[in-house]
Amino acid sequence: MRVFNCDHCGHLVFFDSVQCLHCGSALAFLPDVLTMAALVPAPQDGADLWRRRGARGSADHSGRLYRMCRNHTEHQACNFAVPANDYTELCVSCRQTRATPDLAEAAHRGRWMQTEAAKRRLYYGLARLGLEPALGRAGPVFELLAEVPGGPPVLTGHHGGTITLNVAEADDDERARRRIALGEPYRTLIGHLRHESGHFYWDQLVRDGGRSDDFRRVFGDERQDYAAALQAHYAKGNDLGDWADHHVSAYASAHPWEDWAETWAHYLHMIDLLETSASYATEVTVPGIYGAQHSRAVDPFATPAPDFDTMLRHLVPLTLLLNSLTRSLGQLDAYPFALAEQALAKLRFVHEVVRAAGAAAAEVAAAPPPPAPVVSSAIKKLAKR
Ligand SMILES: [Zn+2]
Ligand SMILES: [Zn+2]
Ligand SMILES: [Zn+2]
Repeated sequence: MRVFNCDHCGHLVFFDSVQCLHCGSALAFLPDVLTMAALVPAPQDGADLWRRRGARGSADHSGRLYRMCRNHTEHQACNFAVPANDYTELCVSCRQTRATPDLAEAAHRGRWMQTEAAKRRLYYGLARLGLEPALGRAGPVFELLAEVPGGPPVLTGHHGGTITLNVAEADDDERARRRIALGEPYRTLIGHLRHESGHFYWDQLVRDGGRSDDFRRVFGDERQDYAAALQAHYAKGNDLGDWADHHVSAYASAHPWEDWAETWAHYLHMIDLLETSASYATEVTVPGIYGAQHSRAVDPFATPAPDFDTMLRHLVPLTLLLNSLTRSLGQLDAYPFALAEQALAKLRFVHEVVRAAGAAAAEVAAAPPPPAPVVSSAIKKLAKR
């Protein structure tokens, strides 16, 4: 993800910031324009509205008004603003959550807040790629649940447009326990959310997008028995054979659907890493006996858009640097992956699907707006979801 600047004083701020540490401005992320902004109160008819503060010495005259997301005013759990004319009190990310654990319990509330923070990062990544929910295209619905004594287990997964996440994954000790038990080198909240969003977008972009045959040529036939495949995968224990020659992770070898979701998540990791690297104008030199290899940051959202191979040429040295830095601090590798040719071919397939979907979304956005009655009925339908 790119770094941001306070648009009042110019100081560096981050995606999660709620206040500029330099000039004291209240900050919020504006999802309608995908940027952080300094805001000032602009109350109207008793409503707590805000407007952009604008650069120092000048005011923002766009006149656009915002509310803070209700999860900010009630729980300090969100920094997304809501355009004042929007139909709900929750921001575009929080409104996707249909179920939360019991927030009266402090431990649950903390886990839920961490999960929502990761979910906002997921929202940003998808929106940058043109995949955010829009009129005419639904987004996933989230159930963020906690297990209660005597209750049923909460299984993280995706079913028919709903993503369920066990918020215990927000606990460092619990996540580390599962990571070790399942032999996974990488297990994070954002990783889970990106993975599950992969299942959601497989339905939309592959199955409903007429790409099933192309998908099967690259990932295999997903019509094989899913439950049996998963059972067989877990029965293998640590004896998972040559998965690394074909997949981005061991779990990806369980079934073509999981292979896609793991590869999709990896693609979102890659785009985030590259955008961050471009934001800092990173240049990496990998030293070698026969000469050094230089690599300059590639912005995945540059115009014209870089192709897959160009992005990959920077990703590899970047991850070498990243792992060397984390090892310097005695931490585990931040990027514990090594991608073989076949895994890269799958990643390239995801790239092509995402690019095509992004281009189609941009075309829809550029088209003239539909007549008013159609819009309002669509909003009502969305509000009922
Ligand atoms: Zn500032
Ligand atoms: Zn929110
Ligand atoms: Zn999955």
